Amino acid sequence: MYHTVVIGGGCLGAATAISLQRKLNEIGRGEKVCLLDKAVLCAAESSRHSGIVRSANADPDASVMASISSNMWKNLEKHWGKNMEIDPFGAIWIAKKNSDGENPAWNDLSERMKKIDLIFEEISPESAVEKCGDTLIIDKDESYYYEPDAFQLDPSILRSVLYDAIDENGVELFEKTEVDAIITDGNKIISCTTNNGKFDAKNFVNATGAWSAQLFSKIGLKIPVTIEPVSVVNWMESPRQIKYEYPIIADYTNLCYFRSWRGNKMHAHQPRKRSVYEIAKNFLNDLCAVNGGEYLNEPMNQSLAYNQIKNYEDISKKRFSNIDKTVYASGYRSFFDITPDLRFILGKDSKINNLFHNLGSGQAMKYSPVLGESVAEEIIGEKKISKMFDYSKFNIDRFGEDYMQKFWNLVNGEENTLHRQGKNTL
Ligand SMILES: Cc1cc2nc3c(=O)[nH]c(=O)nc-3n(C[C@H](O)[C@H](O)[C@H](O)COP(=O)(O)OP(=O)(O)OC[C@H]3O[C@@H](n4cnc5c(N)ncnc54)[C@H](O)[C@@H]3O)c2cc1C
Repeated sequence: MYHTVVIGGGCLGAATAISLQRKLNEIGRGEKVCLLDKAVLCAAESSRHSGIVRSANADPDASVMASISSNMWKNLEKHWGKNMEIDPFGAIWIAKKNSDGENPAWNDLSERMKKIDLIFEEISPESAVEKCGDTLIIDKDESYYYEPDAFQLDPSILRSVLYDAIDENGVELFEKTEVDAIITDGNKIISCTTNNGKFDAKNFVNATGAWSAQLFSKIGLKIPVTIEPVSVVNWMESPRQIKYEYPIIADYTNLCYFRSWRGNKMHAHQPRKRSVYEIAKNFLNDLCAVNGGEYLNEPMNQSLAYNQIKNYEDISKKRFSNIDKTVYASGYRSFFDITPDLRFILGKDSKINNLFHNLGSGQAMKYSPVLGESVAEEIIGEKKISKMFDYSKFNIDRFGEDYMQKFWNLVNGEENTLHRQGKNTL
């Protein structure tokens, strides 16, 4: 019998398995963690992300978690037994000023970030150009903020590091092993069955991301997660104009993130939509409803239409003066897994005593070390990293009947209310 079976080998499941196995190794009773993935490690969202690690965030807990996570990434050997190469290029944040020519929200954010020793400071447009080069289009009505400790990583390097850390710590990895049934006894899971046999364990972790709702509905759990499509485009760049060491650009004027990619490409993707209306729309049109997260891995759903590429060309042209002279290199459609409040679902389930969740809500790669460590702490009964932020606020119990009722009341024909809310929360 395993100490813990982690279902789902994306970056969150792998991080949880590695952290937990390290803790069990320290205890020294020889207990084992096993990690199951229906495909291969990082088969889904975890290989189709942009590798951006920024810490400044309007949610104070998210900022604290992100800055803990950033430090963990930079000292990964201490936490996973393996180090990882990162590109420490910093990030420039850009937004329109208000009618008074100011950006009070980001000034406040800057002050708040100082309290957790995180640099997020306003810089002049000239300084932004100096950091980026002449191709960056600046505007006097915009403000520019710099987060020097932000960095980017290469998703394929992360994937290799995860394989190495799994081996280094002795996690038993079973790929191409799909959990098809979960067997319970009262309010406990005792085992799960797969195409590779039955796995018994004392604890189970759900790290199946977009597949969660469908898999756990089999034992009567409602996990409110769905997906939001997002397009990604890579432009072929000249290293003479845009060097690989280019800062990440978080462009909130044109709603797009840009980063340089190996092979001199400029990579672009749009952020998650944040209005209640858009979130509800994704839950209403739930693309996962029939095939679960499989929708996300279906090749037909991964290609871009011409108008999506053109849309990115328009957005990119507003920020870079040379985009019309670059070439479309590649692109694909990907999917964010989202919850109704766009926050993670972390920790012990409210109905099943030995089930723990670790789901991302669309922007979790950067948090994988801290989320893996925190969930591992809870399983083992420790509180070190998870006491540095309000871990309990991410528990699934917040989505009780009341919460979901209110959420759905917003959708029940109250289009105008939704639109109004959407405008307020953008
Ligand atoms: C375009 C894009 C850009 C992004 N950029 C960033 C970024 O710059 N920074 C950042 O922090 N985040 C980013 N993200 C978000 C990040 O990619 C995700 O939050 C993260 O990868 C989620 O990891 P996960 O482990 O929860 O899910 P997944 O990687 O989706 O893993 C779930 C796994 O569960 C497995 N599984 C499902 N069902 C079963 C079953 N029944 N049995 C066994 N295994 C099963 C699947 O095969 C899959 O491997 C981006 C996302 C997108 C789409």
